[in-house]
Amino acid sequence: MTFRATVLTLYPDMFPGPLGQSLAGRGLSEGAWSLEARNIRDHAIDKHRTVDDTPAGGGAGMVLRCDVIAAALDAVADGRPMLAMTPRGAPLTQGRVRELAAGEGAIILCGRFEGFDERIFEARTVEPVSIGDYVLSGGELGAMVLLDACVRLLPGIMGAASSGEEESFEEGLLEYPHYTRPVEWEGRTIPEVLRSGDHAKIAAWRKQRSIDDTRLRRPDLIECHGGAREASPSGAQRKK
Ligand code: SAH
Repeated sequence: MTFRATVLTLYPDMFPGPLGQSLAGRGLSEGAWSLEARNIRDHAIDKHRTVDDTPAGGGAGMVLRCDVIAAALDAVADGRPMLAMTPRGAPLTQGRVRELAAGEGAIILCGRFEGFDERIFEARTVEPVSIGDYVLSGGELGAMVLLDACVRLLPGIMGAASSGEEESFEEGLLEYPHYTRPVEWEGRTIPEVLRSGDHAKIAAWRKQRSIDDTRLRRPDLIECHGGAREASPSGAQRKK
């Protein structure tokens, strides 16, 4: 089963863009996944090929019409999850990325202007997805972020280099920091333990740095994920 991505956008020429490079790009040309970018405008129903109109209730900007968006979705709907990029969506997580990567692919709707007529979310099963608490000018970069995160997990994409299982967020923690040669640089050395060859000590140091760095940089992750609490010695004490 090949992961199939269909992107609905007003700017299909943006694709594959960065997804045509590096690991994702190699996977794409080798057929490990497929990508089709389709122009929403092809589903416009008037002679001017209009896709948007002014917001009901007034205000700035333009809103993507629900009839045009529905026609674009209906033309490709085949049981794959349908996602719409919007800052009003649930923030994308590594967990959701894993689920999507394990499936048949995704249909991703990219907004522009003020976004979509809300009725599309009532009339079709479309999952609103955000890539973070900031506003982009369009959903295309969001779709690329989502697809890049999925594609790197597909079998054969990352090769033996990494299974991805030790990475940030996989256990509700940030990953530990990395070092490589030179051993000494600008007076700073690679932590002694990493040069010790003692694999148990290295694993323990890495686990502890994961926990410490997550506490420092992302206390929200420690609060949200029970897994992180269990992994932490202080958390384990608290439990008793
Ligand atoms: N008026 C909207 C923002 C529209 S931005 C609001 O305030 O909620 C235009 C388009 O960019 C959106 O339709 C969406 O597809 C995309 N976009 C902007 N920010 C995004 C984000 N954080 N995550 C995903 N998509 C985003």
